[in-house]
Amino acid sequence: MVSSAVELLKNELPLNQEAVVLSGDGKTGLVLVDLVNGFCTVGAGNLAPRQPDEQIARMVDESDKLCRVFCDKKWPIYALLDTHHPDIPEPPYPPHCIAGTDEAKLVPELAWLEKEPNVTLRCKDCIDGFLGSMEKDGSNLFVDWVKTNEIRRILVLGICTDICVLDFVCSTLSARNRGFLRPLEDVIVYSRGCATYDLPTHIARAAKDAVAHPQDLMHHIGLYLAMGRGAKVVSEVSFE
Ligand SMILES: [Zn+2]
Repeated sequence: MVSSAVELLKNELPLNQEAVVLSGDGKTGLVLVDLVNGFCTVGAGNLAPRQPDEQIARMVDESDKLCRVFCDKKWPIYALLDTHHPDIPEPPYPPHCIAGTDEAKLVPELAWLEKEPNVTLRCKDCIDGFLGSMEKDGSNLFVDWVKTNEIRRILVLGICTDICVLDFVCSTLSARNRGFLRPLEDVIVYSRGCATYDLPTHIARAAKDAVAHPQDLMHHIGLYLAMGRGAKVVSEVSFE
């Protein structure tokens, strides 16, 4: 799509992005959605970028910066890792992030998180990380994480803005509204810490069965929908 058309659509769907200052009460949790090789590292798999991607690189960079602050402060981090059993497909997507492969591991820039005591890693085998946190006994690791750490606000980063990030945010907001997530109040999406994949319309048209997914526009729409459901979308994060 020509960039002027994208700008026109963005103007019709305006994002009111704020700056957030996180207070020192330690009641903020960071949620990382799928910062795994299978979605972020060039050439890592069926759903990985084919070439270096600016939006994804920025997301990884911003995630690393924020994770370092959270770890310094010993604030809780919840990292979702898309991970699939080889025999269980996830339509409409081709096989990706198979358990035990590098695709299902954190990107190299964030691998250090595996050793941090304030980080909870959660493998999930579905798009929505809220549902993907359910245990067989009906408990939910994400809900437990919010309650145990008495989290009042979460800052959400990750990929894809309009898929896994959006679904997680929507489920979390519904759960919060139903009273399942007390004391959680705010769900904040950090736009520069999110990214989505790029399948330009002209390439999708030429390929059979491909659904166009222009990156810049879909990222914007993901943020716009999250905002419409009640998330705060911010373009700047700082600390008190
Ligand atoms: Zn998946």
